[in-house]
Amino acid sequence: MNGASPSSQEFIKNHDARPSLIGMDRTELAAALSPLGIKPYRAQQIFRWIYNHGVSDFEAMTNLSKDLRNTLTEQFRLTRPGVSHHQKSADGTQKWLLVFDDRQEAECVHIPETGRGTLCISSQVGCTLTCSFCHTGTQKLVRNLSVAEIIGQIMLARDSFDEWPTPQVDRKVSNIVMMGMGEPLYNFEKVKQALLIAMDQEGLSISKRKITLSTSGVVPMIERCGKEIGVQLAISLHAVCDDLRNELVPINKKWPIKQLLAACRNYPGSRNARRITFEYVMLRGVNDSAMEARELVRLIRDIPSKVNLIPFNPWPGSVYECSTDAAIYEFNEIVNSAGITARIRQPRGRDILAACGQLKSESIHARRAGVPNQH
Ligand code: SAH
Ligand code: SF4
Repeated sequence: MNGASPSSQEFIKNHDARPSLIGMDRTELAAALSPLGIKPYRAQQIFRWIYNHGVSDFEAMTNLSKDLRNTLTEQFRLTRPGVSHHQKSADGTQKWLLVFDDRQEAECVHIPETGRGTLCISSQVGCTLTCSFCHTGTQKLVRNLSVAEIIGQIMLARDSFDEWPTPQVDRKVSNIVMMGMGEPLYNFEKVKQALLIAMDQEGLSISKRKITLSTSGVVPMIERCGKEIGVQLAISLHAVCDDLRNELVPINKKWPIKQLLAACRNYPGSRNARRITFEYVMLRGVNDSAMEARELVRLIRDIPSKVNLIPFNPWPGSVYECSTDAAIYEFNEIVNSAGITARIRQPRGRDILAACGQLKSESIHARRAGVPNQH
């Protein structure tokens, strides 16, 4: 179940002095290639080779001349992030611990489902925010990931399934959730560029409806996220009153619940087709009462939304416990019977500690009528 990858080889690749073309958008690519006399239309062909065909070797770009392929190989590379550790769970969930050029690490997890699969990717190494129930928030080192490091996570997963060129149907990497390490709206420009390449039909061609960005509530960036990226939005709510949310999600002191929900109401295009997901981590005796469930309903009733109840995933040193099953079911029932779709997420990949709680998982308890999977 556990396949530690040889890291030496990866480091050799990473210490390659040639700049990587991965992470560049169409404009940057054209600019990087023009000093070699490469015309814009050729640069667009190369864009498709990189992001739609996923080639990692210039030799495979068969509609380019041999000379051009040689020149490209001499000057550039198409390297993915290195992998310092790879694990596969009994349930098929896979986790990659990625290592970047400066030896910083971040995680990326794939959760397979019937006919599809979700990749949970990171936006930062660590996180500057300090949500009290989140392990990532305890990490000292924090930096933003580059575009190459963000898009590279998706490309690496595609490589592992040999899912190139981008297939039209039956993808194993069909859905993306930005629910790994970091606060994506604190790394807005890089996240935006990476997701635009992911959505580009001549790039990775992943529909914006299949990409979800999760934020702890960086209110001023929410509108831009909708307008400039246009992906599905998930909000880490976790509490229904400011006192408790200040404690659990300290960014709430800056942008309290009222402002956060106002930004959700204004989220560009938030129609029924683009409902906002409210994430709610279930913490025993802290935020899981029936009263809080009813208050949640009152707060979000007028926002086209759905609720994901995430059983708390404990980590060494954490002060919280996960709510009892009975409390989670009751909470779920109250929200559902008020007409808001709620579901309980069953953590996947527990045996490899992939279920940081952040990760996509399947519903274990749907409304009697049956709640379809949302992602
Ligand atoms: N920073 C962003 C995205 C990454 S966290 C955000 O906070 O939304 C993704 C989700 O996992 C968030 O809802 C987060 O609150 C939740 N989460 C973090 N640690 C968890 C844990 N130990 N158990 C359950 N959920 C957790
Ligand atoms: Fe950062 Fe999200 Fe964890 Fe909060 S929950 S510390 S915002 S990664």
